[in-house]
Amino acid sequence: MITLTDVTKTYPGGVTALGGVSLAIDRGELVAIVGPSGSGKSTMLNLLGTLDRPTTGGVHLDGHDIGALSDAELSALRASRIGFVFQQFHLAAGTTALANVADGLLYSGLRHAERRRRAAAVLHRVGLGRRMDHEPHELSGGERQRVAIARAVAGGPALLLADEPTGALDSVSGQAVMRLLRELHSSGTTVVIITHDRELAASLPRQVHMRDGRVVDDSLRRKAPAAEQSR
Ligand code: ADP
Ligand code: MG
Repeated sequence: MITLTDVTKTYPGGVTALGGVSLAIDRGELVAIVGPSGSGKSTMLNLLGTLDRPTTGGVHLDGHDIGALSDAELSALRASRIGFVFQQFHLAAGTTALANVADGLLYSGLRHAERRRRAAAVLHRVGLGRRMDHEPHELSGGERQRVAIARAVAGGPALLLADEPTGALDSVSGQAVMRLLRELHSSGTTVVIITHDRELAASLPRQVHMRDGRVVDDSLRRKAPAAEQSR
């Protein structure tokens, strides 16, 4: 589904955040990305999500060479296939949960009423059917993150990328968010999660370990070297 080939990323100013990363994620996977702070996890997730372009190397999403697309083409591809969730929720303040989720569908081409109908349906799905008219400041952290997840998946993306989605939550809310992400994975979404939580990471089917801008261990390659080589 998505492939990084020998990807490097050097930020303006000269920090090399990724020093040559190759990684393939297949449709239907549930992957944990782990590693110390500053090891390049968010940079890699942004590249997987086509939010950023590599300095060198290739990124392919569903066969599309990201480097060969214009910004507009890339935005369209991203809007139709990828959902994002961040540690700090990134919801619009002063706007209801329903509007936050519906606004995530602005680029879908759907009409206003249909956007709201879909937003309501997905908020029900994440267990917030009774909180739709609440603004972010009237919701708990766990509820805000569930709104953010609803917004990320409202358009039915094939790929969901989450950057420390439980990092700002207490453990009970974090578990509820994880249950939701697992449920989305079970229903067919490919899910990639950056986490500091070792226990959480260990409970997922695949762990990719990063250090100093490189993948230093990938459980998939350890378990199935033959399968990896045949990709
Ligand atoms: P992680 O998510 O694992 O903590 P990041 O990918 O955020 O790591 O960062 C990797 C390195 O790149 C760090 O040294 C960080 O300071 C640097 N970095 C990240 N984003 C930027 C940016 N926008 N501009 C400059 N340097 C950055
Ligand atoms: Mg990070």
